[in-house]
Amino acid sequence: MKTLISQALAVLPGAAGPAARRADIVINGAAIEAVLPPGQAVPASFGEVIDAQRLLVTPGLVNGHLHSWDTFQKGCIENLPLEMAMAYLRPRKPVALSERQVYLRTVIVALEALRSGTTTVVDDMSLGQGLTRGQIDAALQAYEDSGLRVLMGFSMIDRPVVDSYPFVDECFDPKLLTALRALPRPDGEALLRLVRDLAASRHPRTHRVGVLVAPSAPHRCSDDFLKRSRALADELDLPLVTHCQETRLQLVTAQEFYGRSLVAQLDRLGFLGPRTSLIHATWLSRDDIARIGDSGTSVQYNPYSNAVIGSGLAPVRECLDAGINVSMGSDGSGILFGNQMLNSLCFGATLPKLRSPDHTRWLSAAEVLSAATEGGARALDLPLGRIEPGRSADLVAYNLDTLPFTPLNDPIRQLVYAEKGGSIDSSWIDGRRVMAGGRIVTVNEPALIAETHAAHAELADQVLASNDDAAPFRDALFRITLKALGCPIDETVRPAWIEGSHGRFPPFDEGFR
Ligand SMILES: [Zn+2]
Repeated sequence: MKTLISQALAVLPGAAGPAARRADIVINGAAIEAVLPPGQAVPASFGEVIDAQRLLVTPGLVNGHLHSWDTFQKGCIENLPLEMAMAYLRPRKPVALSERQVYLRTVIVALEALRSGTTTVVDDMSLGQGLTRGQIDAALQAYEDSGLRVLMGFSMIDRPVVDSYPFVDECFDPKLLTALRALPRPDGEALLRLVRDLAASRHPRTHRVGVLVAPSAPHRCSDDFLKRSRALADELDLPLVTHCQETRLQLVTAQEFYGRSLVAQLDRLGFLGPRTSLIHATWLSRDDIARIGDSGTSVQYNPYSNAVIGSGLAPVRECLDAGINVSMGSDGSGILFGNQMLNSLCFGATLPKLRSPDHTRWLSAAEVLSAATEGGARALDLPLGRIEPGRSADLVAYNLDTLPFTPLNDPIRQLVYAEKGGSIDSSWIDGRRVMAGGRIVTVNEPALIAETHAAHAELADQVLASNDDAAPFRDALFRITLKALGCPIDETVRPAWIEGSHGRFPPFDEGFR
């Protein structure tokens, strides 16, 4: 059946970036068949006609990075930098979940995504909690049911978590260190096998809910594992993503482990290349940017996450200058209070203005929207992110008779800086209606929210116990954080903190708690 979205104010690609113009959009099956001048399409020849004169229709946002695994921890911690938060994210005493509870935590992520203008997410789900295949299938089923487009990775590591940090022998209590090292080791072989098995029936080129290859971060993996991840991605024609240089401490970690940056280490291993994304890339040297640009690697800009856990602000303008493809993500989701992509876009356009008085180098709303749509599509090498013939019909329609768009002067700016999802009227993914009249039509949202509250009540004691147990790990990571702050980093890294990072750290010298 063909659908006509008639006389929409549509965000269309242009030579100078996306721009809003009136158009008729024709959907045929899962794809956009045509984009015509407004009023040109003949409504009688369509199975369904949407009057879109009061709708802003955009390509769905591509959330290139989130984690669904910490949904039940939403709101549990605040004001902890990444490494200290990791004590809670990969805890020694994880919360044991039923398959249904895994389904629920995942479907909440999907609902948040849909309600913030997102049509594709990359979920880097940790298996650190030892999820079974039944639980993985439950998560995949949640995404199937939601209607969202998904590429799932498994945040793969093959090193003990504690040994992904420097200075552990001097900063950890020896008994705690021994106990953490004695935890069951991640089985790298099994993780790669899992991706291979799933890819056979869930390749993202042919399946809306698919998989990709996601080693968690270079310093959490052996070199051999990283090389085998690269080889698997090449063999199966899958995107490859990894966290990289998210924090200043990771720069120090790289120096301690490899004597070079993580980017340089990945380059040396042959890991970089097209269809490869470095998540965060917040702290980059000139040499790192050159290597990323020369190899055709993408970077994933997660400004809200980087702000809320104090990682810093990525050098996005410098990356764009180097011709690097920039995509966007929310990161999260529980520890960051959700995976609100429109929030991420607003932060992404706003925060760079705090870094420099040179307003000619600030990011625009259109640049950020482009990164969150076309940039995301390019990073994943999928036909998404643009309203043009041949692309997947992944579209979001915002009601223009709402406060963020009233009065209307510049739809893209008003979308990026003011809209938080409350104006979403409709969305389509693969040509299928997922939202209509502001309601999610694929699943019963109120019932799932109620069931998740009930599941959380059952899990609350476990969540508290897991968090209590993480405290000694967190405190040891605080000692590592302090020690790393005293270690110099490459002078050509543009400090990702506004106060800088090469000079003095008065609050840190006295401890920052
Ligand atoms: Zn992440």
